[in-house]
Amino acid sequence: MNGAGLTVRDLRVTFDGFTAVDGVDLDIHPGDLRFLIGPNGAGKTTLVDAVTGLVRATGSVRFDGQDLLGRPVQKIARAGIGRTFQTATVFEELTVLQNLDIAAGAGRNVWTMLRRRKDLPEPVVRALETTGLTDLRERPAGVLAHGQKQWLEIGMLLVQDVRLLLLDEPVAGMSHDEREATGALLQRISADRTVVVIEHDMDFMRSFARSVSVLHAGKVLSEGTVAEVQADTKVQEVYLGRAAEQGPATDPVPATPVAVAEEA
Ligand code: ADP
Ligand code: MG
Repeated sequence: MNGAGLTVRDLRVTFDGFTAVDGVDLDIHPGDLRFLIGPNGAGKTTLVDAVTGLVRATGSVRFDGQDLLGRPVQKIARAGIGRTFQTATVFEELTVLQNLDIAAGAGRNVWTMLRRRKDLPEPVVRALETTGLTDLRERPAGVLAHGQKQWLEIGMLLVQDVRLLLLDEPVAGMSHDEREATGALLQRISADRTVVVIEHDMDFMRSFARSVSVLHAGKVLSEGTVAEVQADTKVQEVYLGRAAEQGPATDPVPATPVAVAEEA
């Protein structure tokens, strides 16, 4: 197990008097595959921004025994925390391999990285295999399908050997098959790393989450296994309340609360 645990206490983020993250506590154990769900505007992205040092926050964030809150972004990354954004950020003109090489190559000569090599570094070979991109390694990243770009971005975190991956809506816009492949990828990765996935597709969450935290209005509304969270009346009220505005709900927890939340 290469993964490390994340402990968040009383985390708060305020934008001009508006509290986007309002006293969040989280205990994410090494090797967990934790889903963070909740309606749009619940504070999920801001929570990840706070953990990765992109926004100022108060409280505490402990990772692998170190207190990281208030540390610079690079220091947090060096501690082994990596994240992806809602829109993929790969170098489109460079090949899959070059993207991975650059991610892996902090401190290496850029020409060595860009040159075609017969002997690929072991972490790059493993990342290609894990993400299923081995056969596409010479393609420019720009021609990859949407799902494959997300997998490449995850691969770029794997070659950096991050121990905690924070993925912001990795399956948004993916086809059903891409979602299934991504779920399987996340399960493989969490065999020896810790993974936190922001998601609001309930079907995807049900299929792949090991544990779930539900965020609502900047607070943790509910936490537990998929079954526990689904049985929680507070969670049903948040989703049902929104569904009721759109018409009668047939499922206690609608299959796609996102669509409902986004239209609200
Ligand atoms: P989620 O990812 O759960 O949809 P966000 O974390 O993006 O929610 O946003 C939480 C709340 O904080 C929203 O009301 C959003 O408008 C607000 N917010 C996010 N970023 C900023 C910012 N930079 N300045 C002001 N308000 C922000
Ligand atoms: Mg978000």
